[in-house]
Amino acid sequence: MVRPNPSAAVELAPDVAWLRSSFANVYLVGKAENWVLIDAGVVGYTRQILDAVHVRFGENAKPKAILLTHGHYDHVGCARDLIRLWNVPAYAHPMEFPYLTGKSLYPRKDPTVGGAMGFLSRFFPARTVNLGDSLLALPPGNEVPALPGWQWIFTPGHAPGHVSFWRESDRTLIAGDVVATADLDSWRGMMSRKKQLSGARSPFVYDWAKTKTSVEALAALRPHVLACGHGEPMEDAADELAAFATGFTPPAKGRYVDVAARTDADGVVYEPPPPRDNLPKMAAGLVAGVFVLAGVVYRKRGKNAQRDFRPAEPRS
Ligand SMILES: [Zn+2]
Ligand SMILES: [Zn+2]
Repeated sequence: MVRPNPSAAVELAPDVAWLRSSFANVYLVGKAENWVLIDAGVVGYTRQILDAVHVRFGENAKPKAILLTHGHYDHVGCARDLIRLWNVPAYAHPMEFPYLTGKSLYPRKDPTVGGAMGFLSRFFPARTVNLGDSLLALPPGNEVPALPGWQWIFTPGHAPGHVSFWRESDRTLIAGDVVATADLDSWRGMMSRKKQLSGARSPFVYDWAKTKTSVEALAALRPHVLACGHGEPMEDAADELAAFATGFTPPAKGRYVDVAARTDADGVVYEPPPPRDNLPKMAAGLVAGVFVLAGVVYRKRGKNAQRDFRPAEPRS
């Protein structure tokens, strides 16, 4: 399917459309008059999101709500702008509230897990946004506001209140950052944007046991379409996700590998001490600069990938 308009989001399942904001995905889910935005992208992409909304739902369209898989900065970058423009609430799991209301920082990132994302995480901001009174709790019972037929599933480990969104009828799964469908563990994978499951060395994971349980829970759903926070959505994903879950092991080393961080409803209560991080800051900055430049070149390639995405036939 070729998009008729380059601003358009790409439909990957009935009433589910995908839009890339830099390296993070957002999803427009539902029908006109009754739809939600799932995740709010990287900061600076408000215009692109609005353009995609206008193309899909009309000039003055606005969602019933913004739903957040979690509150990391690359999933809430446009949240405040959009909440202000649309005057709608944002929903998240209560365990994400401390980080989305300015009460606590997330458990500290762990660059010592290694890999490309581990390296780059040294330069990611620790602070996320404060959504104040606009933030509401996902309802107990797993129903999803404004989306009949969907349920939210608690999938912590990457973030304390991480949730995924699941539609049983056609086995569509929006999995946030529990896994990614681009190889974020290697430089080559990140640059090529080749579709591949990864996430086993995420520097954001604060609890590897919980992460493994979450990966296994999602694999057990046997999703047909797997749409993540990072990477091009994957069709016919059940077997690949099952194999990924079976082979999932924590990284060989890292801050949270032996002992997890602990959090509660007020935020972080315990972090194990950090291992020694030997990377000289200046060298790290230099390599990161080269990577950002190269990313500009590859961004065009990513746009083409989105334009050419072909959804698979739905399967019951
Ligand atoms: Zn994340
Ligand atoms: Zn992310």
